[in-house]
Amino acid sequence: MSAKKAVIEVHKFGGASLTDAAAFRRAVQIVKGRAAPRAVVVSAPAGVTDVLLNLAVRAAAGDGDSCAPEVESLRARYAEILRGAVARGGVKEVATEIDRSMGELSRLLSSLAVLKELTARTRDFIVSRGERLSARILAAALAAGGVRARYVDATEVIFTDGPFGGASPNLILTDMAARKTLRPLCLSGIVPVIPGFIGAAKIDEHEDEHDHGAGDAHHRAPPPARSHAGDERRARGVTTLGRGGSDLTATLIARALSAREVSLWKDVPGLLTADPRVVPDARVIPQLHLREAAELAYFGAKVLHPRALIPVAGRPIPVFVRPFADPSAAGTEISARRTLDRYPVKALSAVGGQALLTVAGNGMLGVPGIAARTFEALHRQGISVSLISQSSSEQSICFSVPAGAARRARDRLTDEFRDEIARGEVDGIDVRSGLATVAVVGIGMAGHLGIAARVFAALAEAGINIVAIAQGSSELNISFVVAAKDAPAAQRAVHGAFQLSKIGGGAAARAAYTDAVLLGFGQIGRALAGIMSKAGGKRRGGRAADRPSLRLVAAIDRRGFVFDPNGLSPRTVAALVASKKAGRSLADGPGGQLATPTDALSFLAEHALSDPMLVDVTADETTPLIRQALGGGMDVVLANKRPLSGPRQESEALATLAARAGRRMLTEATVGAGLPIFDTYRKLAESGDRVIKIEGCLSGTLGFVLTEVEHGRPFSEALRRAMDLGYTEPDPRDDLSGTDVGRKALILGRLLGFTGEPGDVVVESLVPAAVRTLPRDAFLARLGGLDADWSRRGAAAKAKGGTLRYVASVTKDRISVGLKVVDRSSPFFGLKGTDNQVAFTTARYRKNPLVITGPGAGPAVTAAGVLNDMLRVGG
Ligand code: ADP
Ligand code: ASP
Ligand code: MG
Repeated sequence: MSAKKAVIEVHKFGGASLTDAAAFRRAVQIVKGRAAPRAVVVSAPAGVTDVLLNLAVRAAAGDGDSCAPEVESLRARYAEILRGAVARGGVKEVATEIDRSMGELSRLLSSLAVLKELTARTRDFIVSRGERLSARILAAALAAGGVRARYVDATEVIFTDGPFGGASPNLILTDMAARKTLRPLCLSGIVPVIPGFIGAAKIDEHEDEHDHGAGDAHHRAPPPARSHAGDERRARGVTTLGRGGSDLTATLIARALSAREVSLWKDVPGLLTADPRVVPDARVIPQLHLREAAELAYFGAKVLHPRALIPVAGRPIPVFVRPFADPSAAGTEISARRTLDRYPVKALSAVGGQALLTVAGNGMLGVPGIAARTFEALHRQGISVSLISQSSSEQSICFSVPAGAARRARDRLTDEFRDEIARGEVDGIDVRSGLATVAVVGIGMAGHLGIAARVFAALAEAGINIVAIAQGSSELNISFVVAAKDAPAAQRAVHGAFQLSKIGGGAAARAAYTDAVLLGFGQIGRALAGIMSKAGGKRRGGRAADRPSLRLVAAIDRRGFVFDPNGLSPRTVAALVASKKAGRSLADGPGGQLATPTDALSFLAEHALSDPMLVDVTADETTPLIRQALGGGMDVVLANKRPLSGPRQESEALATLAARAGRRMLTEATVGAGLPIFDTYRKLAESGDRVIKIEGCLSGTLGFVLTEVEHGRPFSEALRRAMDLGYTEPDPRDDLSGTDVGRKALILGRLLGFTGEPGDVVVESLVPAAVRTLPRDAFLARLGGLDADWSRRGAAAKAKGGTLRYVASVTKDRISVGLKVVDRSSPFFGLKGTDNQVAFTTARYRKNPLVITGPGAGPAVTAAGVLNDMLRVGG
C-alpha cells in the first residue's frame, strides 16, 4: 500500500471501557493489531467526567473544602493508570502533566468557592482535563508499546461554533485543520492521539461568560478568521461538545481524513435492540442504516452522541460500534446499506425527564398560526421540542420538552397567547411532567402495515397507559410518551412484540452489576449499606466471574434520597450513617436530595440502572411503592412485613404483578430474620412433601422477656433490659400486643393457603386492657404493677413442669398467636434469649416436626437474611 493512497482508520476508545491501566494496555493492543494508518480518539476514564462536573458544582456552591480529597484521588487514579499502562519511558513527562493539571484544578475549585458562580465556559475548562490526561497517557502507552504516536490537542483540530457546554462543530474549519494537522502524521506512520469530547471554542465566545445550557439555540455571526493555536487559546478557549461527545470527535476526524471507517470501542457488544440495562434480552444488531442509528441516538439511546452521525452522512464512511472486551467480534455496522428487511422495527430507546405541554382551547379551530407561533416562541427561548402531536380537530397542540425547560416554556407561551387566553380562545397552557418518550425505530416500517397497531396492542396488554403518540412523516419512528416509571416496562413489552430478541447479532453480555436501591435507612438499612458499600461492587469471591455483583446505588427514606450510579462509596455510606444516627434525613446528608419516596423511585427509574432491585427495610405501608418498583422492572426484596400482611387482595395482587412483570419478589427476611424459613418451606414443597402446620416462636423480643421471667426476674425488669438492649420497638407495647407476631403468622399462613384477612388472625395481647391506651411514659411508670401477675403465671407453668412461650400456630384454616405453657416435650421448651424457632409439621415429619432454630432479632442477623435474598435475586 503506498503511503499516499493509504486509507486511514479512526479508533475511539470510550470512557465506559477505559476503567483502569489494564484497559489502556488493551487499547494499545487493539491499535497495534490494525495495519492501516490510524488516528485515535480517547475519552476520559470511566466516571472521571462525572467527578469533575460534580466537583465544579460543589465548589461553586461554596463547598470548596470538601473537594481536596477527591482531587487527590483523581490524581492518584491517573498516576496509577500511567504507571500500569506505560511500561517504560515517557512516564515522567506525563506524570508532571498530571500533577500540573490537578494543581490547576485545585486552584480553579478554590476560586469557584470564592466566586460562587460557575459559568459554562469554566465548567468546560475544568472537565477538559479528563480527556486530555487520558489521551496523553494513551499516547505514552502506545509509544512505550512500540507504536509511534503523538498527542495532538483537540483545540488544534476540532473547531466549534459554541455555545459552551454543548458546542456545534464547525465542519469547514474542522475539515481544514484536522486534514492539515493529522493527515501528514498518519501517512508518515505516526498515530495521532486526540482527546475526545472537546474542541476549540468559537473565538467571540471568549468574551461571553453567560452560562448556556446544552442545546440552546444561538444566532451568531459566522466565525471570524482566526489566528492559530497559542497557549492562551488552549487554556481558555476550550469547549465541550456535550456529554458523550467523543463519538462526535471521532466521526469529525474520520470525515476530515476521508477515513475508511470509524470504530467506536465500547463496553457493549455492539448497538443493541435496546438498552441492555432496561431490556435484559437485548440483542446486537449486525447492521443498521445511518438514519436508524441517528434516530436512536437522537431519541436517547445512550450509546451514541446524538449528533455523532451527522459528519459522515452522505459519505462512504461506515461507523462500527465494537466490543472493547472482544476485539475480534463483528459488532454493529452503521452505514447506508439496508439489510435485515424481516425486521421492520430494529430498536427502541427512551428519553426520560420529559414534560408534556398542551396548548388547548375551543377558539383555536381555524385560527391560523397558533402552531407556528407556539414553536417560534419556544425556538426563540432556545427550548428544543422533541415530540409534537396535534389533534385533527385543532382543539389542542401537545409537545414534549425537557422537564427542566417546562416552566420557562409555559411562562413564555402564556405570555405569547395572553390575548387569546383573555378572549377565551385558548384555555391556557397545561404542563405534565415525570414523563418519558419511547422511540420505536426501524427503516422498514414504511413498507409494513400495522406496526403502530402492534406497538399499542403490546402496551395495552402490559397495562401501560399512553399519554401521547407521534409518528414522524419519515415513518422511521413511532414515538409515544408514558409516565417515566412505565418506560422500562413499555420497552420490554414492545421489544417482545417485535421479537427483537431474535435478531441475529447475539446476546448482550450479562450485566456486570445488580444495582440495589435501599428503601429505608433504619438500623437494618444501615447495617446492609455498610456491608454492601464495603464489598464495593467487587465480584464476590469464589463465585463464577460471569455473575453480576451487587452494587448499592441509592437509598431512600421518607424525606429524600441519595443516588450514585457508580455505587455509593464506603465513605459516603459512613457519612450517611453518621448523619442519619444524628437524626437527620438522607435528604440532608452528603449528596442528598429532597423527594417523596414515590418521586425518588420515579427519578431512579429514569436512570437506566443495571438489573435493578428494590430492598424494602422499612416498617411502613409501602405497597404502592412496591407496585411502582415491580411495574418499573425492579426485582424486590422485602424485610418489611406490611405489604404481605395487609388485605389479602393487596398481597395477592403484588404476587400477580411480579409474575406478570417477570420480576422476583423475595421475602425471607419478613419472618425469622435470617432463618431460612421460606427456603425450607420451598424445599419441602419441591420434594413433594406437604406442610400441614407451622408453629413457631417468632418474636426475639418476647422470647427474651419470657426466658428472663422463667429465670425468676421480675417482668418489669426483664422488659426494661430488653429496651436497653435495643430489642424492643420504641413503645414496647408494640411487641407485647402480639401484632408483629400476628403479621408474621399471617404471612406464613398465606404460604399454606390461608385465605382470611388480618382480622381473622387470633392475637392474644400481653398488654392488660387497663394500660393499653395510656401514654407511653405512664405505661412504663406502671410496669411494676404487672410483676405480681407475671410471676404467678410463671410459677403456675413451672408447677406443671412447663414454661411460658409466645407461640404462633398456623394452618391453612386457622392462625392464632398467644401465650402458651409448653412442657419438656415441646421443641420450644429449651429456647433461649432472643432465638427464634420454627417447627414444620408435614406429611413426612408428622410425629417429629422439622425444627429450625437461630437468632431471630437484631439488625445484623436481619441484614444477613436480606443480603441472602439479594444475592439470590442477583444471581
Ligand atoms: P463510551 O464508553 O463510548 O462513552 P457509552 O457509555 O456512551 O460508551 O455507551 C455505551 C452504553 O450505552 C452501554 O453501556 C449501554 O448501557 C448503553 N446503551 C443504551 N442503549 C444502548 C443500545 N441500544 N445499544 C448498546 N448500548 C446501549
Ligand atoms: N467523557 C465525556 C463524558 O463522559 C465524553 C465521552 O466520554 O464521550 O460525557
Ligand atoms: Mg459515551
